Amino acid sequence: MTLNRRTFFAASAALPLAGLAKPTFAAADKAEAQVNGIYRQKVGKFEITALLDGHLPIGPELINGYDEAKAAAALARQHRKPEPNGTLIPVTGYLINTGDKLIAVDCGTNDAMGPTLGGYHGALAAAGYSADQVDMVIATHLHLDHIGGLAAKDGTARFANAELVSTASEWDFWYNDEIRASVPDNFKGFFDIARFQTTPYAEKLTLAKTGAEIVPGIEIVDLPGHTPGHIGLHLRSEGEELLIWGDIVHATALQFDNPDWTIAFDTDAEQARATRLKVLDMVVTDNVPVAGMHLDFPGFGYVGKMGSAYRFDPMPWRYVL
Ligand SMILES: [Zn+2]
Repeated sequence: MTLNRRTFFAASAALPLAGLAKPTFAAADKAEAQVNGIYRQKVGKFEITALLDGHLPIGPELINGYDEAKAAAALARQHRKPEPNGTLIPVTGYLINTGDKLIAVDCGTNDAMGPTLGGYHGALAAAGYSADQVDMVIATHLHLDHIGGLAAKDGTARFANAELVSTASEWDFWYNDEIRASVPDNFKGFFDIARFQTTPYAEKLTLAKTGAEIVPGIEIVDLPGHTPGHIGLHLRSEGEELLIWGDIVHATALQFDNPDWTIAFDTDAEQARATRLKVLDMVVTDNVPVAGMHLDFPGFGYVGKMGSAYRFDPMPWRYVL
C-alpha cells in the first residue's frame, strides 16, 4: 500500500479507541551502551557487512601538519565538537559475501587496544556468521587495528578455515629482522604484533599481486605509503563498484578538509600523502563510492571536492538492502 493522506487517515481510523485511557509508564534502566555496530550494503551481487570494532582517539600529537585553527574550522564546518582526547575514529572490518565465498577484509583489534575497542568478533556473531565460515581474510596492511582479530591469545587461528591474503611488500617489511632492528624500540612492538597475529596462517598464506583480481570482481589495488604494502580492494559487480580503501583517510573529521595532514603511523608519510591525494582525485573524478576502515561508521560514501579540499558525503542508512 502506498501511504498518502487518504490511506493514512483510513489506517488511523481503524485504531481502537479503548486504549486512550491515561497510560502509566514504568521507569526503565538506561542502556548506557550501543548494540553491536553492523550495517549491510550491496554492490551488485556482493553483500558487504560493515562490522564495528570500536573507536580510537587520535590526538593532535599523532597528526603531522596539524594546525589548531584549521582543525577548529574543519570541525565547525561539520557541526562537530572537539573531543577531549582527540578525534574519535572508528575501527571497522568489512565482510564480503560474494555468493561463493565469505571474505573478511581486516578484522579489528581483538581486545588488544583497550575498552573502547574489541567488538569485531561480537559484531561478526551478531551479524549471523561464525569465524569458521570465513574462507579468506584479506589484510589491507598488518597494523594491529586491522589484524588484531586474526589470532587467539594462545596463538591459534580464530578464522580456522581461512587463508590469509597480504602482499609481498607488506609481508617482507614486517618479517624483515634488519628493518625491525633498525626502528626505535617503541616501534619494534608493531613488528612483533604483525608476526604474532599472522603466524597461525603461515601455511595458508597468499601474497597477492596488485592490479589483479584475487577472486572474480575483487581487484587488489596498490596504495603504498601508510605501510609499504598497504592495499585497497576495488569491487565491481553487475555495473556497480566500491573502493574499500583501507587507511587512505584516518580522521574523517579532519583529513578531508586537510588532505595533506599525515598520521604518525605512516611508514612513509610523503608517499602516504601522495597516495591519498591521488586516490581522492580519482574517486571524485570517476565518482567512485568508497568505504574505509576509519571513515565514520559504517563508512560508505562518496567524496566531494571543495576548492583544494574535500568532503565526505556518507550514503544514507537504508533499511532495505
Ligand atoms: Zn588503521
